[in-house]
Amino acid sequence: MPEPSLRIEHARYIVTVDRERRIIQDGSILIEQGRITRVGKADQLTGTPADRVIDARRLLVTPGFFNGHMHISYAHPVRGIFPDDVGSPLPQVFKLQMAMTEEEEYHTSLLGILELLKNGTVCFLDPGSTKFPDACLQAYADAGIRVILGEGVTDLEAPFPLPRYPTEEAVSRTASFMRKWHGRLDGRLRAWAMPFSPETCSADLLRALKRAADEQGTGLTLHHGSGPQARKDYQARHGLSPTEYLESLGVLGPNVVLAHCLGVDEVEIDCLARTGAAVAMCPITAAKGGRGIREHGRMPEFLGKGVKVVLGCDSSNNSNHLDLVRAMNMAAIQYKDARQDMRQLPAETALEMATLMGAQALGLGDDLGSIEPGKKADLVLFDTERPEWQALWNPINNLVYNADGRSVHTVVVDGRVVVDSYRQSFVDESRLFATVQAIGERLLARTGVSFPRSRWPLV
Ligand SMILES: [Zn+2]
Repeated sequence: MPEPSLRIEHARYIVTVDRERRIIQDGSILIEQGRITRVGKADQLTGTPADRVIDARRLLVTPGFFNGHMHISYAHPVRGIFPDDVGSPLPQVFKLQMAMTEEEEYHTSLLGILELLKNGTVCFLDPGSTKFPDACLQAYADAGIRVILGEGVTDLEAPFPLPRYPTEEAVSRTASFMRKWHGRLDGRLRAWAMPFSPETCSADLLRALKRAADEQGTGLTLHHGSGPQARKDYQARHGLSPTEYLESLGVLGPNVVLAHCLGVDEVEIDCLARTGAAVAMCPITAAKGGRGIREHGRMPEFLGKGVKVVLGCDSSNNSNHLDLVRAMNMAAIQYKDARQDMRQLPAETALEMATLMGAQALGLGDDLGSIEPGKKADLVLFDTERPEWQALWNPINNLVYNADGRSVHTVVVDGRVVVDSYRQSFVDESRLFATVQAIGERLLARTGVSFPRSRWPLV
């Protein structure tokens, strides 16, 4: 069914992220059949017919946001259970994830998507956590969001419970997953290969999955990190650093996204630049997890060498929130502090990573990521009539440094309004919240995972 046409009229600002990075004051956008057909000053578009007109006088419009590493499926029912002094919660995380039932995963994913959309994210990549895509498909369809999915696979022993298969089976499962899912939901669903990490997957598996992704014209993502110790270990085993090892297998390429990617050195950054591989970085996970950005964070060097960076929120027990505006804020401020240099990571660069560069990193840059005629209409409309947006001189500084996702007023995906004046119509929110709380209680009881509810007396 063709989407009704839409005119966004008299926007206070349109941050286009187009080639010239124009910010149009008093601008209008015309959307027909899900695509942007005109963008310009409001007086140039006056009177163009549209099925619906949104008065955007108090609104600032940006392209929709891309979340390149977002474990959507398990964490919401148990969000916040890990006290700060527990150290790495990873063993419990995977235990809880493995225990999710189909129905639990559907509700949990729906809540994650609700939070993503209401904070302006139009597309997320779930790095292989979703176990029941058949059930979750309804959530993606109802919400209207874009999603990059894959079946998480490993074929080696791991320090925590992960789905492990014989190599051949991991390859055939991935190939059939991609065949079944890629292109569904009018192309909003993409299916990628998702080996967990180079440490949990054999060289044969990694090579075969890259080949499968290439053959089917999709992508591949995996967790990746380096650092002095990892370089020493890899040097001893393979005679190469972790990233050079991936390059030597032929696993790096423009359809590959390495997640986190902390601790890499100059030689490894060159591998990424040379092969066109992209990076998904989760600035809040890194900060909250005490990962040492000063020592291990290389975002400015990636950007300096032309490596595409997309931001991520990891999971709702890592970043804890799914708000890309706060992730932009952290990316923009953490390198200033780490390098003791205010010129690092300007606000504009943070916004690029969340929009156009994020889309490019995920292989979607031709169709998405900026507000230009011909591109798909994925937009976020921010409400500037709020205290945190005052006074308004520099719209990008205000967005990245003052605001957060709570000022997201309206969200458009594929030309369809999915959040409309702060409201959505795909789920009853209070019922969903109660359902997910109950899922958390059942999940903790079933797995025996338990932490003190609070470090302060809960009376
Ligand atoms: Zn991850």
